[in-house]
Amino acid sequence: MSLPSSESSSPKEAARHDRVLVVLATPVSGCFDYLVPPHLSVVIGSVVVAPFGNRRLPGIVLGPGTGDVAVEKLRYLEEVAAVATLPDTLLLFMKRFANWTVSPLGAVAKMILSQPSALAPPAMQKQFFMPQIAPPEKRLTAARQRVYAVMADHVRRCAGDISAAANVSQAVITGMVAQGLLDVEHVVADQPPPTPRHDLPGLVLTATQTTAARDLSAMIGQGFSTTLLDGVTGSGKTEVYFEAVKAALQAGQQILILLPEIALSAGWRNRFAARFGVVPVEWHSDVSAAQKRRAWRFALDGKLSVVVGARSALFLPFKNLGLIIVDEEHEHAFKQEEQVIYQARDMAVLRARIEACPIILASATPSLESWVNAGATGGPARYRHVVLSDRVHGASLPQIKAIDLRKTPPERGRWLAPPLVEAIAKRLQHGEQSLLFLNRRGYAPLTLCGACGAKVTCPHCDSWMVAHRLAGRMRCHHCGHETRPQRNCGQCGESDSMQACGPGVERLAEEVLWRFPEARFAVLSSDTVGTPKAAQNFIESVQAGDVDIIVGTQMAAKGHHFPNLTLVGVVDADLGLAGGDLRAGERTFQMLSQVAGRAGRESRTGEALLQTLDPENPVLTSLLSGDRDQFLATEAAARAHAGMPPFAQLAAVILSAPEDTKLHEAMRLLAASRPVFDNVDCFGPAMAPLAYLKGRHRARFLLRAEKTIDLQHILRGWLANVKLPAQVRLHIDIDPYSFL
Ligand code: ADP
Ligand code: ZN
Ligand code: ZN
Repeated sequence: MSLPSSESSSPKEAARHDRVLVVLATPVSGCFDYLVPPHLSVVIGSVVVAPFGNRRLPGIVLGPGTGDVAVEKLRYLEEVAAVATLPDTLLLFMKRFANWTVSPLGAVAKMILSQPSALAPPAMQKQFFMPQIAPPEKRLTAARQRVYAVMADHVRRCAGDISAAANVSQAVITGMVAQGLLDVEHVVADQPPPTPRHDLPGLVLTATQTTAARDLSAMIGQGFSTTLLDGVTGSGKTEVYFEAVKAALQAGQQILILLPEIALSAGWRNRFAARFGVVPVEWHSDVSAAQKRRAWRFALDGKLSVVVGARSALFLPFKNLGLIIVDEEHEHAFKQEEQVIYQARDMAVLRARIEACPIILASATPSLESWVNAGATGGPARYRHVVLSDRVHGASLPQIKAIDLRKTPPERGRWLAPPLVEAIAKRLQHGEQSLLFLNRRGYAPLTLCGACGAKVTCPHCDSWMVAHRLAGRMRCHHCGHETRPQRNCGQCGESDSMQACGPGVERLAEEVLWRFPEARFAVLSSDTVGTPKAAQNFIESVQAGDVDIIVGTQMAAKGHHFPNLTLVGVVDADLGLAGGDLRAGERTFQMLSQVAGRAGRESRTGEALLQTLDPENPVLTSLLSGDRDQFLATEAAARAHAGMPPFAQLAAVILSAPEDTKLHEAMRLLAASRPVFDNVDCFGPAMAPLAYLKGRHRARFLLRAEKTIDLQHILRGWLANVKLPAQVRLHIDIDPYSFL
């Protein structure tokens, strides 16, 4: 037994059996018994490698084996990974998470063990340093003298660093070692990231900020609590939650900051670096495997203090988590819609509860759920509510006005109405910047034949192909299918008959060029600005004043600070309200307040103009009157009346299959055993609004239940006894957001 238990407490010891229960990091339901070979030793939480079919998979030891399978049929564990035992809190989180989302435990284990490189034994590295007695320099070659000049500070360096600093080949270094001119030592290559400093001064906080910061910091070390940090854009929420980060650092705890990927800008990084003296350690899809390996291992060792990441950072194996922050908590990017479907903000609250630490949810436009949980509708307050109601520099919020497109429509084939055009012209005269917002990528959302009316659609989805003229492509925004644009109609054969309908940002840019040929404009969308680096360049060029008019999608709505931007024009304020999903109004309100908040962040008051065909819509009237709470209250009342979340529970069961017949078979099977309980409604099956997506036919059941019902239990009971045809996939979406 080579790997003794790191802890001697009895639950850990319970697993010291020859036969253990293991959850494998793969989305199959259930756990498996394995035999522990005599040369290995495992405890609960050990990360192991086990044979599974003809694969080897990482897994986690959960306890003694169940004994359900005859011992002759069991296989042996192959290895224990060279990492510390996973904490009990993480194992509990994994189980509760799987339970809540009704997903296989192995799928959650897979998200925890997502980084195979993190499990490999640490790599070794050679480090070079000056010997005790150095020979006189004059007998050295010029190259060797340069090495000595670099190494004179007695700092240990790897070969790469020396050769770069002294401009020598690595052979020079090896030669010096051979002759005893340099000493070398083998060390572990991974070094922990520098610890953020808690002793640097921050900005001088305003009185309101100070009160809020004290309030948040007081929660550190006091067990589980959830606080909604609710502050208008520009009220300095980041500075305030940095104070809580500081308090947790001082207490020697680990801190997790979750941001929607889009919000993790260079601006945020720089502010963190200015406040804490080091760049933050990051965890998201753009981070390299080597960096992820370090973050994962040092989180587990407790040597990593702060991680800022996207939703997947929620699965890091923290040893001593003391604070979680979810910034922009209302963002839909926190909902993962693929594979395991989950809401990272809600699961972050679960994790905080299990880790017994505080969690802060920050937003200028809180989600209805969080707002209701904070007791704002008069119900029980499960969250604390800290409010920042003023902008720091005394800057006022932008004036929001509607442009009624029924009264002042744009010319045919144009999208900017006269009052908006006038407002832009005024900004150009004054040397100020404008942002035109349209949440539609590409040139036109629809292309059709002028002769026969045929629409260009995606062969794999029930959706239109979007024209992207800059790229010279037609693209499906659902599955990514691409084709070359056709000049002739594929249906009737008419030549040159294809017409673009409706605007995307590229088409809007065309109009800007036509109306304001002298203005400098730029398009900000994921197609034109695809990488974080490009986004940073874009932001810098706007800040430097190189751009007069920005034409942007939702990428332009987030967190950027453009001091000289005084006008925001929303080209189609009704766009997000179509489609009628549960959160359409809420999402539109959040998006439009965010984008309007881009205007006039400093001394000048900004203006936001919303083009609409329906200015009486409650979403718009609340925006115009600047009464966010009024909007939330109305929305909450409507949801309560309809028996919808957050006042009831909703779950979707989505079936999909490449063949229609198989799908219908599965629908019949599930319908035959549909759950029948008091206070539970089962709707469907209905074909999904996008009934054909990514080459699969789709149908959906919707379950609605009172809050007191264990909906997950009902779902499990229902689905456990149904044997679906092969090829049919089933997804469960607890609290669905997307109704596609
Ligand atoms: P929010 O997240 O609420 O929109 P931020 O934290 O991003 O607000 O702050 C908005 C701007 O105000 C930032 O440029 C920030 O540096 C600045 N700021 C915040 N607090 C202060 C303060 N106390 N003194 C000076 N500037 C501040
Ligand atoms: Zn045609
Ligand atoms: Zn498609």
